[in-house]
Amino acid sequence: MDFKTLYDFIYTITKTDDIPDRSTLIEAFKEALSIFFPVQELKIFLMDEYSYLLKDFEKPWESLSLNGCKDEIRNRFDNFLIQKSQYEISNDVLYFPIIQKHKTLGFLKLKSREKISPKNDFFSILPLAISQISLLCMNLKNNEMISTSSKFHQTVRNIAKITETQYELDYILPIMGEMIDGFIYDHLIYIFIKNKNKKEYKLIWPKKCSDDKIYEYLEEINSKSKTMIKQNGKMGIFPLIIDSKPYGAIVAYNHFDKITTKEIEYLDEIKSQAQVTLERAKSYVEVLEYATLDALTGYNNRHQFEKRLRETTASAKRQNQPLCCIMSDIDFFKKVNDTYGHAVGDCVLKAVAKTIKKELREEDIASRYGGEEFIFLLPHTNLDEAKIVAQRLNEAVAKKKINIEEFNIENVKEISVTISIGVSEFNKSMKEPQMLYKNADEALYQAKESGRNRVVVYQNK
Ligand code: GH3
Ligand code: MG
Ligand code: MG
Repeated sequence: MDFKTLYDFIYTITKTDDIPDRSTLIEAFKEALSIFFPVQELKIFLMDEYSYLLKDFEKPWESLSLNGCKDEIRNRFDNFLIQKSQYEISNDVLYFPIIQKHKTLGFLKLKSREKISPKNDFFSILPLAISQISLLCMNLKNNEMISTSSKFHQTVRNIAKITETQYELDYILPIMGEMIDGFIYDHLIYIFIKNKNKKEYKLIWPKKCSDDKIYEYLEEINSKSKTMIKQNGKMGIFPLIIDSKPYGAIVAYNHFDKITTKEIEYLDEIKSQAQVTLERAKSYVEVLEYATLDALTGYNNRHQFEKRLRETTASAKRQNQPLCCIMSDIDFFKKVNDTYGHAVGDCVLKAVAKTIKKELREEDIASRYGGEEFIFLLPHTNLDEAKIVAQRLNEAVAKKKINIEEFNIENVKEISVTISIGVSEFNKSMKEPQMLYKNADEALYQAKESGRNRVVVYQNK
């Protein structure tokens, strides 16, 4: 074989030094191997060190038993493992092992457009190819592990920090769900809370769980419960015990694959942090019963809002004066969190609150209803006027460039968001003051449905 061919091969295969992802790596292998074969398809199967299952390197989340090729792949692997053969050819397909430190970890399957000849130049450099390809695969796996571990630590930190900005349990739990879900890729994550009175478990995150089995297992939780592994290792139940009472559970489930020991370790740790955060949130709520302001925005908190709502509606009634309610919600806010992180999300929330505050009058009452929802009571304001105010708020927010330089995100110095708004007016015949914001909320829902970044006024039906 000429020296140039060898050089080309080594060059193409090593230029993927800072390997981006698995598919790209496979593409690079294909390119390198096409120096020797008209490659049609290339696959790598690697043993998963936790589940001891062979996995398609490019799609490690997919169970191989799904496509019926499991036995063929397993047998092939066993051949390399037991017979230690260097390679195998069957017509137009070539197999060779992936080896590290003398251990066979998997194999490569190359399908060529032509019958493969044992005389091919490739076989003279086979040991080199095996060691190079194995090394690159393992490097990539190691990099992934490091990145997972750093994501894990970040998740634990973020969960610990939630209460800095939020202590309503209704909002904390979904945020936790999102954080855990962003970190555990291969399993579905659920969060359940035990209903105080009915004693049954209620799904808090995400919106749906179609697995009734989970509910049965949840019934087994008692105040001393530790992590439970069910469904042949495919489901992990991590009970949340607060004040020595079962409070809820985080559940991880995958219909096909076992939960790995590493994942269990991670989720155990996350669960412990979640417990601490929830305990803290609970005691905050007790203490903050007397607080009136929201820590992040400086607006009234929900508790105070309810109080002001009773006062303003009573006074509007008494004085026969108009009163309007504006409810706003940031559009696609979850995406801000997902793209730039929670800290940026908090910064955006603050900035939006501040921008809106500037547009209001002294006597208007601004409250954080929860999450990224704000609610405003506008005394002495009729619906036409309130609509104009709402429009102004909407424009002010859309125009606002929010500076996020301090977060050192590459190429992003500022971002903008929009809000959707629902407006409603108080009328004396309302059965309860809450109707005022329920109507605004309904209008807000329509604003979202009809495309977001707009104002919708509640229409009495
Ligand atoms: P849309 O309202 O346009 O339908 O989309 P959205 O993405 O805003 O929808 P959703 O209401 O489902 O998501 C709200 C997100 O707000 C979910 C939660 O993670 C986030 N959130 C709630 N409270 C806080 C907070 O205090 N800080 C941060 N950073 N995020 C929060
Ligand atoms: Mg929103
Ligand atoms: Mg919302």
